[in-house]
Order: sequence, then structure tokens, then C-alpha cells
Amino acid sequence: RAKETGRARTVTYSPRDQGPPEHDISLEAAMFNAVREGEFQLYYQPIVDARNRTIEGFETLMRWKHPTLGMVPPGRFIPIAETNGLINLLGAWALKAACMQVRQFEEVAGRELYISVNISPRQFRNDKFLAVLDDALALSGTPGRQLVLEITEGTLMVDPLHAESVLARMAERGARIAIDDFGTGYSSLAYLKRFPISVLKVDRAFVKDLPQAAKDAAICGAVLDLARHLDLSVVAEGVETEEQLAFLDNLGCQYIQGYLTGKPMPAHVALAALKEDLYTELLPADIRTGKR
Ligand code: C2E
Ligand code: MG
Ligand code: MG
Ligand code: MG
Repeated sequence: RAKETGRARTVTYSPRDQGPPEHDISLEAAMFNAVREGEFQLYYQPIVDARNRTIEGFETLMRWKHPTLGMVPPGRFIPIAETNGLINLLGAWALKAACMQVRQFEEVAGRELYISVNISPRQFRNDKFLAVLDDALALSGTPGRQLVLEITEGTLMVDPLHAESVLARMAERGARIAIDDFGTGYSSLAYLKRFPISVLKVDRAFVKDLPQAAKDAAICGAVLDLARHLDLSVVAEGVETEEQLAFLDNLGCQYIQGYLTGKPMPAHVALAALKEDLYTELLPADIRTGKR
């Protein structure tokens, strides 16, 4: 919750590193225009098996290509959208588009893939959220089991009773729940017992200084132990080096997401990556490992 408050505050007061307040106000005005002009796009980042680097799924990441400002990072515009409510519209669009996109990914890959979509706290609390989710699944024909919804610890803690019922209804549809930025939130571990969670996404903060940083190594090890005992899967975020991958693999981390195995990319590039995967599957195992 601390993180969310911090994010919301950047909109009103704009801390030094985010430029003057006027900038955010004009950015907000530009956002409404951007929706009309279709300046928002979805990028997809591969989530791969740490052992053989096969693509298991993709995380959907929103991009805003402003005609003069260039790429506006989601760290800038998502908090604004969260404050003015535009996130409900953008989020619904992302959910539907991502569920459609995964069908094309699968067709090219020739096997089942999943799609992971970030759900902001406000979206999660919106009373139309479950209807949007049903629409996304129905329109695309994507089975619920192929959808992962990424939420943060804060989203669960704002109103745990409400969260419990929304999560139960997501689970009814077969959708899996991932805790994003795991370990950086302001909450107890009790929610892992209370809520039907399937995936922990270890934040990049614990990965970026591996393998040297002893404390980060200990935290990653402990999270993986915890996940094993609770029967959760783990995705390590922000893996940039072979050393990090090898270290996490040794700890028993099954899934990796990071620049090493693929940056966020437009759908057509992701499709090309899937085709490449298809070809490398035909190669002998000794050549296949160590690819890319
Ligand atoms: P997140 O969900 O934790 O997404 C992971 C972020 O880490 C992404 O940043 C991704 O580009 C970045 N990343 C992945 N691998 C690496 C790496 O190896 N090195 C480094 N340095 N970074 C890596 P991005 O795309 O800028 O998104 C930032 C945040 O914005 C996301 O964090 C998520 O909280 C939010 N966001 C993005 N798209 C959406 C969306 O469609 N809806 C909502 N509600 N939030 C979104
Ligand atoms: Mg995420
Ligand atoms: Mg994340
Ligand atoms: Mg993160």
C-alpha cells in the first residue's frame, strides 16, 4: 500500500526526478488524446523455462508512443491513469487484446502458451472488472487456464474481503493469480495462506545484484523454498545475465523473465521469436542448450 500511495503522490506533487507538476498535467491531457488517437500499444515479454529456455508465456506490457515526447514509460503514465480512472478503459482494452493475441501466438508455436496481464489496484476494485474478464475470455475463446492476472500485494491488502471474493471468481474461470513485485510490498505472508495464489514473481530488486549480493541470494533462496512448500511457481524478473540465470536455476527457480531471454517486444517480433523456438526444437539437444 505504501508503494501505491507513493505512486499516486507522484501525480500531485511530482518528486524531483519526475519533472515539474505542469508536465504531469499536460501529460494527463495528452493521455485522453492518446486514447482517441490510438497511441497505446501492447508489448510482450517472453517468460521462459530456466532449463531449456522454451517460451512458456508472455507478459503484456503497455506502451505509449507519443508523437513528440516519444516513448512514455508505463512508470509515468500508469499512475496517472490510476488516479484519473483511465486505467479501467486502458486495462480492459489490454486484457481483451492480450487474450486475442495469445491465440495467434499459439497458432504459430503449435502448443499451448499463457498470457500474463497486469491488473492495477483500481481496475481490480472496479465493479465491472469481472464482466470485462468474461468478455475478454469469451471474445477471444481463450480458456481461463491460459490467463495469468498479475496483481501486487497492495491490491490484496486494501480490502481483503473484497479481494477474496474477486479472486474466488477469477479462480472459477480457471485464471491464475500471480503476485507481482513479490517481496517489495507492505504486507504479511498471511495472504499467501488466505488467497488462491499460483505464481510469485520475484522482483528485479532481488535479482539485479545476483549472484554476488549475499542477502539477495538468501532472499531468493528463501522465496523459492517457500514457494516449493506452498506449491507455487516462481518467475524471476529482470534476469539480464547468464550468471543470474545459472544461479537462479541452481536454487530451483523454474521460470525466468528478463532482457537475457527476451525484451518486451511488439507482437510481430514475438511471433518471430516463437518461430525461432520452433526451429531450434528440431536441433540436437547439445546445440539447442545455450542458444541466444
Ligand atoms: P512489472 O509488471 O513488474 O513489469 C516488469 C517490468 O520490468 C517491465 O517494465 C519490464 O520491461 C521490465 N523488465 C523486464 N525484464 C527486465 C530486465 O532484464 N531488466 C530491466 N532493467 N527491466 C526489465 P515496464 O514495461 O516499464 O513496466 C513497468 C511497470 O508498469 C510494470 O511492472 C507494471 O507495474 C506497469 N505496467 C506495464 N504495463 C501495464 C498494464 O498494461 N497495466 C497495468 N496496470 N500496469 C502495467
Ligand atoms: Mg507485471
Ligand atoms: Mg513484475
Ligand atoms: Mg517489477
